[in-house]
Amino acid sequence: MSEQSNHHIENQKHYKGLKVNKGVKEMPKTNPYKNKLKRKKELTVSDYMEGILKGDLSILSRAITLIESSLPKHQQIAQEVIEKSLPYSGQSVRLGITGIPGAGKSTLIETLGLYLANQGNKLAVLAIDPSSERSKGSILGDKTRMEELSVHENAFIRPSPTSGTLGGVARKSRESIILCEAAGFDTIFVETVGVGQSEIAVHSLVDFFLLIQLSGGGDELQGIKRGIMEMADMIVINKADGNNIEKANITGQYLQNALHMFPKTKSGWVPKVMTCSATENINIDVIWKRVMEYCDYVKSNKYFYQHRNEQSKYWLFQTINEQLQSDFYNNPIIKKQLKEVQDKVFNNDITSFVAAKEILKTYHQLNN
Ligand code: GDP
Repeated sequence: MSEQSNHHIENQKHYKGLKVNKGVKEMPKTNPYKNKLKRKKELTVSDYMEGILKGDLSILSRAITLIESSLPKHQQIAQEVIEKSLPYSGQSVRLGITGIPGAGKSTLIETLGLYLANQGNKLAVLAIDPSSERSKGSILGDKTRMEELSVHENAFIRPSPTSGTLGGVARKSRESIILCEAAGFDTIFVETVGVGQSEIAVHSLVDFFLLIQLSGGGDELQGIKRGIMEMADMIVINKADGNNIEKANITGQYLQNALHMFPKTKSGWVPKVMTCSATENINIDVIWKRVMEYCDYVKSNKYFYQHRNEQSKYWLFQTINEQLQSDFYNNPIIKKQLKEVQDKVFNNDITSFVAAKEILKTYHQLNN
């Protein structure tokens, strides 16, 4: 037995346990791999701005990551970057795309997106996915979606933030839109699953709202609520190919009739219904033609600007409401008092209204 392996008594013959090897005298105090681990250099606001205005996608991505971060330090930089980007924003066409899962949203975004990107448009695709909070995944996280578009030099695809309330996610998307526009994107798609609340949030972000439907028999609206139909500036019946063309036309007719029953839109634009096939690339160019017609129409009657102002107002109030709520509910004194008055309410000592008044009085006193 060598001297080295014999330095421990346990290594002597009559011990049958594990062999003990000679150790090192002292562990290194620093991580020997430290220099090999690449740490991204922290960027300053002006680094971000320089990168964004140059259209540097990796810097744009990092800035959006800051927007999505909940760390106050990140939020502060993000807000400064947004503010500085604002003068360069607002020049794009913002398109909301919705439809139930399986309607063909990602396929249509890929086909329409490639059509535009190949024409020289610079397209950013963002997503609002209310389900991501639950699954911690993202509808756009799946790499197999939008395969060609995701590597196109004129396209930038950003998955939905993976956490936060719907309102919070929508606000982050609005801020991301500003950065994308400052980075030179002239066309923005915001995708969402057409199952409820998220359309309203998306509607507050976009200029044009496209609803994708599938063909089917008579009266079904495929889980799409009337309110969502009312928001649509255009409905496309996708998968109008092969044996499905006739059925798609019938559904188109049906939806066109249904839309006639709806009140006149604020923009004065009459929502269009058409069929298309995202996989066969049928009518994709017509979809875009209609979007452009819409933009011309609402720019000439000024609704375009009025709508954007309304959206800004919506976000102004939304942000105030959110801030007030979080300030109120996170205040330790209010938290404590809330618990106390709640017990009183449960005991029928006071009514809910009196309790609310009491607690608001405390809040006002705290702020004076
Ligand atoms: P999403 O869930 O709304 O994003 O839907 P997808 O884009 O993932 O499409 C769902 C399925 O429908 C996929 O298998 C697509 O290949 C298929 N699909 C999408 N568009 C078309 C189309 O225009 N025609 C046909 N026949 N199939 C389509």
